[in-house]
Amino acid sequence: TNSVAQTDPELAAAIADELGRQQGEIELIASENIVSQAVLEAQGSVLTNKYAEGYPGRRYYGGCEYVDVAETLAIERAKQLFGVEYANVQPNSGSQANQGVYQALIQPGDTILGMSLDAGGHLTHGAKPNQSGKWFNAIQYGLRKQDGLVDMDQVRSLAHEHKPKMIIAGFSAYSRVMDWAAFRAVADEVGAILFVDMAHVAGLVAGGVYPSPFPHAHVATTTTHKTLRGPRGGLILTDDEAIAKKINSAIFPGIQGGPLMHVIAAKAVAFKEALQPEFKTYAAQVVANAQVLAETLVKGGVDIVSGGTDNHLMLVDLRPKVLTGKATEQALERAHITCNKNAVPFDPEKPAITSGIRLGTPAGTSRGFGAAEFQLIGELIIEVLDGLAANGEANNATVEAQVRAKVKSLTDRFPIYGL
Ligand code: PLP
Repeated sequence: TNSVAQTDPELAAAIADELGRQQGEIELIASENIVSQAVLEAQGSVLTNKYAEGYPGRRYYGGCEYVDVAETLAIERAKQLFGVEYANVQPNSGSQANQGVYQALIQPGDTILGMSLDAGGHLTHGAKPNQSGKWFNAIQYGLRKQDGLVDMDQVRSLAHEHKPKMIIAGFSAYSRVMDWAAFRAVADEVGAILFVDMAHVAGLVAGGVYPSPFPHAHVATTTTHKTLRGPRGGLILTDDEAIAKKINSAIFPGIQGGPLMHVIAAKAVAFKEALQPEFKTYAAQVVANAQVLAETLVKGGVDIVSGGTDNHLMLVDLRPKVLTGKATEQALERAHITCNKNAVPFDPEKPAITSGIRLGTPAGTSRGFGAAEFQLIGELIIEVLDGLAANGEANNATVEAQVRAKVKSLTDRFPIYGL
């Protein structure tokens, strides 16, 4: 036979170890999830063998009749899920979906207005080291100091001052509802295109627990692997036929070649799952769990940026405990709780250190954690933080070992992939 275990034991061991890590750790990285067996199976299928440049019915290769079925299913389900007229399911990632939007609708040198990285925006929204920050004149908006909310007055005044061709709304680390209609109003005032990147909240939008960017957005993108719980990849949506045509040409032949048909098949499976009534229950539980986690953490003595959460994530401000994001991320990791350090608004620490961590509930909710489990997780996090603070940020092996044992008994009760 030619299983990975037989042909490549080194790699098989890495895969097995990763499965063990996912089973044994509490995953709180807000951008991650745990896909179904069906999604894994579709992505691991023979569709990986197929070249299919072009779009269903208009390919540059023969033999595309079955992958056309897969891509058409993905497109139709994405349209139904988000209630839009056009979907492009080919972007290999969220970043490439965004690149496709820029390629389709603006020119190098044009002005764009997006949320800054340190306020919770994404690299692709005009950050300096990203292509979007190099090729465009990127102006950035941020948060209000007093309440940590998006500063719509600043968005409006920057828009009037700089007259951007495109305004980008969306985020990687913002725990509140974004007022898509308010963004559209500003875009209309200055004649800009409104592009919403809903990568983080797409699953919540699909599940009906977070406002849809439509009909406000001219175009929207998302990743398919975060709250949407599909394979790693991107998706572009619009109601505008002219924009849709430009997007299709921008993705292929503009920035990509042959689409990843096995990933597109897995997207189709994930979109079908997200169309089921159970997905609404899942999305509501993700938000309820995030609220329980945030309340438990506040009770334990840390701050949550903006005071709480309306979605799947929160930014924890560790300064009340005199802890940095870097040391906290590492201590939690030693206790088998996985998260990432994250700057808080107006963070006095360097980006490699930070004063915060970002936590999210999508992955834990997928394995079955409810309110009781997320309250326990909040208490375990506080236990680690207090242990770390008591040691002046040096390892607290005793506390971390105690928490690790409690994490094990929790994760043992909620197996993934039948472990
Ligand atoms: N857009 C937002 C808002 C994101 O949070 C992310 C992922 O972190 C992306 C785009 C990029 O997605 P990918 O990592 O698939 O390129």
